[in-house]
Amino acid sequence: RASTGALPPGRTVDELVRLAHERYAGVDDGAVADYIPVLAEADPRRFGLAVVGVDGERHEAGDTDVAFSIQSISKAFVLALVCEELGHRAVRERVGVNNTGLPFNSVIALELNAGSPSNPMVNAGAIATTALLPAASAEERWERVRDGLSRFAGRDLELDETVYVSEAETNQRNRAIAKLLQSYDRLDVDPLETVDVYTRQCALAVTAHDLAVMGATLADGGTNPVTGEQVVSAEVCRDTLAVLASCGLYERSGDWLFEIGLPAKSGVSGGIVAVAPGKGALGAYSPRLDAAGNSVRGQRACAYLSRALGLNLFASS
Ligand code: GLU
Repeated sequence: RASTGALPPGRTVDELVRLAHERYAGVDDGAVADYIPVLAEADPRRFGLAVVGVDGERHEAGDTDVAFSIQSISKAFVLALVCEELGHRAVRERVGVNNTGLPFNSVIALELNAGSPSNPMVNAGAIATTALLPAASAEERWERVRDGLSRFAGRDLELDETVYVSEAETNQRNRAIAKLLQSYDRLDVDPLETVDVYTRQCALAVTAHDLAVMGATLADGGTNPVTGEQVVSAEVCRDTLAVLASCGLYERSGDWLFEIGLPAKSGVSGGIVAVAPGKGALGAYSPRLDAAGNSVRGQRACAYLSRALGLNLFASS
């Protein structure tokens, strides 16, 4: 189906989401992330699929109310908040919008690009983006992140303290990346305080349903379709989605766009948000990941639903 008009009628979407869940619930490929110790404890059987339309209607199947840490998916929404504050040009000049073709926590990518973080979806770029959010202190920066992401979700998001502590104890690599950014004059604020805010932002607890609402806000020109609040502008949604299209699925972003044809962001806890501009968004949760860090069942289910719901942006028939 071509990507025209709105989502199909509600009952059709309900049924397709249920079918997608049934179809991929038995897939056991991939492995749960363990480089952040507490993530290794995630239950690999969990699988939730949620769709929220720009009309605010929800369609879901499976574990859509199970909480998990948002991890890298936070990067998409912090980018939107920073775009809203500083505009299109600042993000392009200070962070960049090109895929590195290298893993999300690569130090070599920074070195190869003369200290440029390349894009806001890899750790270096995300730390640089969080640092750009105007705030007088690290505490205020964290509150702005938490408050901003909560407005996207339409409810107060809370920190998962266990995930935060586990990652804070083991994030030497992100601290090194922040120090390296500082050495290239790419950070105007304290590097370790910024990594701490970034680590907290990654430990915000969300559900697959929350991801779908957050994505639907980007699909709806920045208005949260559940609360009606204008969180960011339509221009910011456009810019954010362009970055997600090129950089949202790590170094597999090209494969994803080729198969699924939607801007999206994944995270190492097993979440994926995929956005169909003007229509709605998909939120998926399943902790087993491929080698790049993308949920295996989440990718399969999104591919199925993108085809069945006619969401692929590049399809004309
Ligand atoms: N907090 C994780 C890290 O910085 C996020 C990684 C991810 O989801 O890609 O390593």
